[in-house]
Amino acid sequence: MATLFISDLHLCPSRPLIGRLFLDFLDGPARGAEALYILGDLFEYWAGDDDLGDAFNAGVCASLQKLSASGVPTYFMAGNRDFLAGETFARAAGLKLLPDPALIEVAGTTTLLMHGDTLCTDDGAYQAFRSEVRSPEWRQAFLALPLAQRKAQIEALRRESEAQKRIKPMEIMDVNPVAVLQALTFHRCTRLIHGHTHRPAHHRLEIDGRTCERWVLPDWYEKGGHLACDAAGCRLLEWPAATA
Ligand code: MN
Repeated sequence: MATLFISDLHLCPSRPLIGRLFLDFLDGPARGAEALYILGDLFEYWAGDDDLGDAFNAGVCASLQKLSASGVPTYFMAGNRDFLAGETFARAAGLKLLPDPALIEVAGTTTLLMHGDTLCTDDGAYQAFRSEVRSPEWRQAFLALPLAQRKAQIEALRRESEAQKRIKPMEIMDVNPVAVLQALTFHRCTRLIHGHTHRPAHHRLEIDGRTCERWVLPDWYEKGGHLACDAAGCRLLEWPAATA
């Protein structure tokens, strides 16, 4: 049995096809998994756990709950879109929250998990914004606002961020190689799995004579995809599965 990793689904009611694909994935490959790890940006955005009254959000959580009830341990690490997801969300979806970064064992290999945005250190403006919104003070103040007001603010932020992305050079929005090296060195491991950049790949790098690997998870736009890891190693797979 393999441990599965997904991220960057950006689920939202306006992309029903991807929502359908995700439900099929939960009923399909995920059912036979050792465990499922969701490494952030499951939702296009998450305004707070009081938004569980929304039918779309409740539906996603119920489907995840069904998976964990079937005996597949399910874990969630927040991304930059859904970092406001908290314990109430976790209970509703039947999953365990993970910090970013997190270290796990996969078939005997210590594996470092991250959403990936903290590795994009060349984007100074984003990192400054991130430290602000991840502070307990900001979180508390923001969650104290009425839900409708939070949603409106998030919409405005997203429009701003889309405009920014069009003018930022592509390299700035990718991970910084030194940040990758530091993360693997600091955590003394040889495997890193992350999402966020939407650039699915398998990178190999040498650190102090050790061969390390960095797996980047695919986003769920035209299609879905996941990473499957077991004793034999990891492989990136398309969802729906590519037919030979
Ligand atoms: Mn992200």
